[in-house]
Amino acid sequence: MSEGLKLLELQEADYDLLRLRKQLEDLPQRAMLVDIDAKRVGVQQKAEQVIRMRTESEQEIERLQTEANELRVKIAAVQQQIAQSSDYREVAALSKEIEGLAKRAEKADFDNLKIEERCEKIHAVQEQVNDALSTLSKRHDELMKQLEEQKRTLMDQARTIKDKRDELVKGISVQLLERYDRAVSAKNGVGAAYLEGDHCSGCRVQLTEGQLAKLRKESEIASCPYCHRLLVMLDYGQR
Ligand SMILES: [Zn+2]
Repeated sequence: MSEGLKLLELQEADYDLLRLRKQLEDLPQRAMLVDIDAKRVGVQQKAEQVIRMRTESEQEIERLQTEANELRVKIAAVQQQIAQSSDYREVAALSKEIEGLAKRAEKADFDNLKIEERCEKIHAVQEQVNDALSTLSKRHDELMKQLEEQKRTLMDQARTIKDKRDELVKGISVQLLERYDRAVSAKNGVGAAYLEGDHCSGCRVQLTEGQLAKLRKESEIASCPYCHRLLVMLDYGQR
């Protein structure tokens, strides 16, 4: 294989490596994972909010139960006083007090019931939130697995190309490689072109008969007078 052909195969290998790197960066799972993570943050915040609401409700239930119990203890004590009293007026006043205490105890029971209902609703929301979190988590793991598989496939392909590249480089002179590397950095990854009929494959500009004859006489590996890429004087497209 001539040095020119090796150079073109090297160019092809480098271009494939570039394409694989781009594919690796643009794997769709990456964007999907970013999306899932953002959703997870949102649901997590909701979960924390629900936990706070539940704790508050439970504390309120406890407070109301204590209050109701204390009121009933008070009622019992007043009833005791009534039992021991023979003063009609005192009994009437104590009965009035019991009435007030009973009303407050009833109110505490009623509030308690309402909060217990609220607590049940919060519990249902909490379950929904937990389900959503576990669905997102499962999806996250699936995507991670897919991403790893895709990465592995692309990296295997890259390794094969890299091995081929290493072989090709052995057959190309250091000077030519340096020229090629310079052209690659200057021309966004494509430093070596070839002839497509009488066109440069790099810039697609047609070369005149005179230019072609002159370049052919100089060397198999010339330089395109227009884009200044290395121009291998072979019709590589028709190999
Ligand atoms: Zn050109």
